[in-house]
Amino acid sequence: MASKKVLSIHGHPDDGEQFAGGTLQLLKKAGYGITIAALTDGACGSHTQTAEEIIAIRLKEAREAAALIGANYVNLGIRDGSIEYNLENTRKLVKLIREINPEIIITHPTDDYMTDHSHTGRLVLWAIPEAGHKNFQADTNASAIERLPYTYHTDPQGLTFANGQISRVDTIVDISDVIEQKLKAFATHKSQMGLLFQSETQNGEPSAARKTRRWAITRGEQVRIEYGEGFNQQLHAEYPRKNILIDLIPGKVYTL
Ligand SMILES: [Zn+2]
Repeated sequence: MASKKVLSIHGHPDDGEQFAGGTLQLLKKAGYGITIAALTDGACGSHTQTAEEIIAIRLKEAREAAALIGANYVNLGIRDGSIEYNLENTRKLVKLIREINPEIIITHPTDDYMTDHSHTGRLVLWAIPEAGHKNFQADTNASAIERLPYTYHTDPQGLTFANGQISRVDTIVDISDVIEQKLKAFATHKSQMGLLFQSETQNGEPSAARKTRRWAITRGEQVRIEYGEGFNQQLHAEYPRKNILIDLIPGKVYTL
């Protein structure tokens, strides 16, 4: 039996907090153990430091950020910018999934601005069924999972797919009660707050956190709440059909 565990699998060390940090906090409050896994080491997260320097900084930041939302942090050590959609990486994810045996998996969508994100989403979908096949080899003694987890894809980076339109989601979680803690956890990735975008702060909030707040406002507006996080549930063949978030986070989950 899968236990009350959530496994959030993302490309980079700061993605878990940015894309699902509110919902993960609400699931923690619902009694679930939370693990945030990043596939990459974050080596590309600096324009000035060496790969080794920024990897060490980001590991420390990621552990602190995860701790703020009561999560464990795991890093799979793949080089940043280099996630390939291949068998080797699938085996790494099968190992992770078998060892944690989560009831719920959260990951990126399979279409995203960052290839590290979209490949992660695709690798997770490759790994989940194979995690249940005991003859699929992975470097672990953990048993094959007995049922597929409830699986959700977060919003893409910037909420937009390649056509520039706001992505469609089937589930919006009301994170209004935990938005400040989400942004605090995300901003704990201090090295990343000014990397890709303007680095100024407004009212003490760095630009990357402001952007993340805007995404939450956009999703919130869709269902007339203050702040939301959007998801699409994976509903291929053998995946469980029930939207379990509705039961676990009562009164805070909107379906569209
Ligand atoms: Zn990322």
